[in-house]
Amino acid sequence: MTDIASHRGGALLWPENSSIAFENTAKLPVEQVEFDVHPTRDGKLVVIHDDTLDRTTDGKGPVATRDWAELSKVVLKGTGGQRMLLLDEVIEIFRPTPIVLRIEIKCGPDRTPYPGHAARVAEALGQARMLDRCVVTSFQLSTVLEAVAEARPGKHVWLVTPNVQIDIGLTNVIATAKAANIPMLGLRQNMLDAEIVATVRAAGLGIGGWACNDSDAIAKLLALQVDVFTTDRPDLAIAQRRGH
Ligand code: MG
Repeated sequence: MTDIASHRGGALLWPENSSIAFENTAKLPVEQVEFDVHPTRDGKLVVIHDDTLDRTTDGKGPVATRDWAELSKVVLKGTGGQRMLLLDEVIEIFRPTPIVLRIEIKCGPDRTPYPGHAARVAEALGQARMLDRCVVTSFQLSTVLEAVAEARPGKHVWLVTPNVQIDIGLTNVIATAKAANIPMLGLRQNMLDAEIVATVRAAGLGIGGWACNDSDAIAKLLALQVDVFTTDRPDLAIAQRRGH
């Protein structure tokens, strides 16, 4: 069966990465919930997608240059006054459920990795005794490598953009993942077909898809029988999987 990951807690249904989104996702028959983690200036871990506050909150400017005391006063757009959540708070929403946390380790402005960020996330997951309930993902290879080094054996995913897939080539992407003990790739849904899925699987790697946000993309990935895909419409994905 193909697992469904509610992307940012179902970003087309509820305000992304919010308590509303996560509490609703926790009631769904999905296998995973995806969300994004940035560090604060004072060493806390917060759940927000962008490296700046502007798009999804009433605040402005970078996330990682603020202390939690300041960030906790910022309101998430569309939530009726809710603040962003700490990683530990999202963990507690899902702890009573069977849902796996699919945690994307984010980078700073200009795609610069935050030093030690993947290690701090791994430490927090270990302290919460959630390492075996988590999949850690990143678009940055260096970040995936750091995560792999911190928590082995672990479930790590290298998210591959179309540009990387084209520029490096799938063969080299696979070889790099294999050499680095990265067990799974995540490719954009429009960059997947049966041959690519078979090639990745033949190399002994898992294969996931991302950006499956409409019924055509969802149908395609269900037909390809990928291991997992992320979707902003978990409701659609659940309905289509039932009928598949
Ligand atoms: Mg993400």
